[in-house]
Amino acid sequence: MLASPHLHVDGTWVAPVDGGTREIRNPADGTVIAKVDEAGSVDVARAVAAARRAFDAGLWSTRPKEERAGLLVRVAELLGAHRNDVARIETLDTGKTLRESYIDIDDVIAVFRYYADLVARETDRLIDTGNPAVISRVVHEPAGVCALIAPWNYPLLQMSWKIAPALAAGATTVVKPSEVTPLSTIALTRLIERAGVPAGVVNLVQGDGAVVGAALTGASDVDLISFTGGASTGVAIARQAAEHVTRVALELGGKNPHIVFADADHDSAVDAVLTGVFLHSGQVCSAGTRLIVHESIADDFVAELARRAAGIRVGPGMDPSSQTGPLVSEEHRAKVEGYVALGIAEGAELVAGGRHPNDPRLASGSYYLPTIFDRCRRDMRIVQEETFGPILTVERFATEAEAIALGNDTSYGLAAGVRTGDPDRGERVVRALRHGTVWLNDFGPYTPAAEWGGFGRSGTGRELGPSGLAEYQESKHIWHNTTPAVGGWFSAGPTTPER
Ligand code: NDP
Repeated sequence: MLASPHLHVDGTWVAPVDGGTREIRNPADGTVIAKVDEAGSVDVARAVAAARRAFDAGLWSTRPKEERAGLLVRVAELLGAHRNDVARIETLDTGKTLRESYIDIDDVIAVFRYYADLVARETDRLIDTGNPAVISRVVHEPAGVCALIAPWNYPLLQMSWKIAPALAAGATTVVKPSEVTPLSTIALTRLIERAGVPAGVVNLVQGDGAVVGAALTGASDVDLISFTGGASTGVAIARQAAEHVTRVALELGGKNPHIVFADADHDSAVDAVLTGVFLHSGQVCSAGTRLIVHESIADDFVAELARRAAGIRVGPGMDPSSQTGPLVSEEHRAKVEGYVALGIAEGAELVAGGRHPNDPRLASGSYYLPTIFDRCRRDMRIVQEETFGPILTVERFATEAEAIALGNDTSYGLAAGVRTGDPDRGERVVRALRHGTVWLNDFGPYTPAAEWGGFGRSGTGRELGPSGLAEYQESKHIWHNTTPAVGGWFSAGPTTPER
C-alpha cells in the first residue's frame, strides 16, 4: 500500500537501523493491511539529530513567513488531491467509517489553511515604554526541535493540529504516530515532502511508544514535546521532560458530561447524546460519556436512548450502511469489556448493549455494541474513568446547582455539553463548568480558529486557534535604544550620601 521504507530521516526514506517491522491490521476483520518499518532508539537519535541540524542551520526558521504559509497551502492542496486515498487508508487502519474519515481529511485541510493564513498575518507586538528613544517589540521565534506524538483514534487529525502550526512557526519536527495507526501519517509525510519542505524539517519515526516515544521524549536535543494521548502516558512524559526542562504540551483524556435539562428540546437532545457518545464507537477524547439528566424526564429519555442505541448499525467502516465501526484492536475491546463488567459489578443497570454483536459477518472484527448504564452514581469508577469505548453512563439531578456540581465532579476537564431551552440558565451553566470546550445545545463541533484543550488532568496548553501557534513559538523581547547615551549609574562619586 505504502512503498517502503517507512522512516523519514533528514529528507530521506530509510529502513530502520535498530528497529523492526509491524503488521498493521484492519480492525474490521483482523486482516493484515500493511507491514510497516518501525524505528529503534538509534533511529530516533538520528531523527532528532537531523531535526537539530536543520533547525540550527536555519533551513526553515529563517524562511519568510509567506514562504512557510505557501508550503502549508501546498500541503492542503495535495491532501485535497489525494483525499480519497488518504480517507481510505484512515478507515482501513482505524476502523472508523469512510464518512468520518472524509470529515477528518477535510478538517485536516482546513487546519493547514488556517495556520497558513494566521502566520502570514502575524505581526510583531510593539510596546509603548514611555521613552521615545526606545523601540520595544515582542517577536515570535520558533520553539526549536519539536517531538510530536499522536494517538490512534484520530491519527491524521491530531497530528495535523501539531504539524501545521509547528511548520508555520518555523520549527523542525520529529513525528511519532501511534504504532497501531501509522499509515495516514506516513502518507501525510510523503505529501509534505512533495510540497517542498527542506530536508530534516519533518522526520518520521513510528514505533512502540515505550521504546520510540520514550527515546524521543527523553532526548536532550528536543526543545518541545507536544503529546496527545492517555493521562498516565502524559504524566510519564512530563516527568521525563522535567529532566531537561523541556517544554511540554499535553492533550490528555476526558470524561465529558452532557447535561440535559427538562426544558431542552427532546428530539435534538436524544440525537445529540447518542452522537456525542457513540460516534467512532466512543473512541473520542471529547465523547459525551456521562449523561446527567433532569430526574423529571430521565425515565422516558433513557428509554428512548436505549431504543435508539439498539438500532445503531455497527459494521465495517468501508460499508456505507455502517453508522459506526469496530474498536481499534482486540486489546482495546478487551479493555472496554473490562469496564462493562466493572459497571455491572458496581451496581449500574445495563439497559443497552453490553456485548459483541451477534451478526456472524462481524465475528472476526473488534466490534462492540453501543452500551448504556442507567442508575449510575458519581463515585463509580465507570463514571469517573475514561473507558474510551461505546459506553454511556446515566446520572440524574434535581437542581441546576446539582447538575453543575456533577458536571464538575471529574478530575478531567476537556469538554462538556449543556442542553436547555432557557438562555439565561444556559449561560450560567456553561460559565460554571470547568472544561476547555463547552457546547450549548450542540455537542462535538470545533473550528480550527478556536482553542482546544483541557482543564485539570485533561492536559496543559492549547491546540488550534492562535494559542495553537504560540505553542510552537518562543516570545523574544527586543529593546532597541535608538539614541545610546551614557547612563551614568557608575559615574564617579556616590549617588546617595553616606550615612
Ligand atoms: P497513549 O497514551 O497510549 O498513546 C499516545 C501516543 O503516545 C502513542 O503514539 C503512543 O505510542 C505514545 N506513547 C506511549 N507510551 C509512551 C511513552 N512512554 N513515551 C512517549 N510516547 C509514548 O494513548 P492512546 O494512543 O491509547 O490514545 C487514547 C488516549 O488519547 C485517550 O486517553 C484519549 O482521551 C486521548 N486523546 C486526547 C485528545 C485530546 O485532544 N485531548 C484527542 C485524542 C485522544 P504507541 O501507540 O505506539 O504505544
